[in-house]
Amino acid sequence: MKIGIIGGTGYYKWKGEEMQIETSYGNVIVFYFKLHGRDVFFLPRHGKKHKPAHAVNYHANIEAMKNAGVEAIISINTVGSMKREIEPGSIFIPDDFIDFTKRKTTFYDDVAIHIDMSIPFCPVVRKVLVEEAKKKEEIYEGIYVATEGPRLETKAEIKMLSNFADVVGMTLVPEAILAREKEICYASICLVSNYAAGLQKSLDVEEIKRMTEEKKGTIIEIIEECIKNLPEKWDCVCKNAIEKGKL
Ligand SMILES: [Zn+2]
Repeated sequence: MKIGIIGGTGYYKWKGEEMQIETSYGNVIVFYFKLHGRDVFFLPRHGKKHKPAHAVNYHANIEAMKNAGVEAIISINTVGSMKREIEPGSIFIPDDFIDFTKRKTTFYDDVAIHIDMSIPFCPVVRKVLVEEAKKKEEIYEGIYVATEGPRLETKAEIKMLSNFADVVGMTLVPEAILAREKEICYASICLVSNYAAGLQKSLDVEEIKRMTEEKKGTIIEIIEECIKNLPEKWDCVCKNAIEKGKL
């Protein structure tokens, strides 16, 4: 099975054979390597020019994964915590999300496809990710709310959003949705880099940067263990999403 990793530019540790994959939305750069006998494609989400979250070519990225033959994606997302107990430096594995972006979230403009999102992340990939993460440290699970950006949220927005979700970020949507539309299994591991607006006491940027650098290694290890321990084949809700979603 071919596995994809989508991550921020900080995760260039996974260097392999650089490839350009053609898609109907433009070319995408990925790095191919073998790990634990599996074919892995690392896709730096923001591309070489580091496009900000609201301008990332999510459609091209997901189509590139599909064209490469990837069947499961592990995504790395950076988030802000809206809950005091979820401290910066924590690992958070979302089990649901709320979309507050204004982005185009579908590949299907000409045909009515309503994919089921009641289980928004692949239960199999997510389970392995949680198991491997828990071997390293205490982790948090819960709801991710996606905002449009590039600006950060206001205090009032965070106060409202924190009633319904735990962390806030800009990159999970539409990625998770588009992956489901391509029937690719998808789960996310998030690194909490800071508290959201209104929750910080005093922010020491150097301290946050140091912590992020430190945690990156743990996230990489978790993902590599996950790649090792994913079953070779499985049944899940992701694989016939289109057939089930047709009007
Ligand atoms: Zn799945």
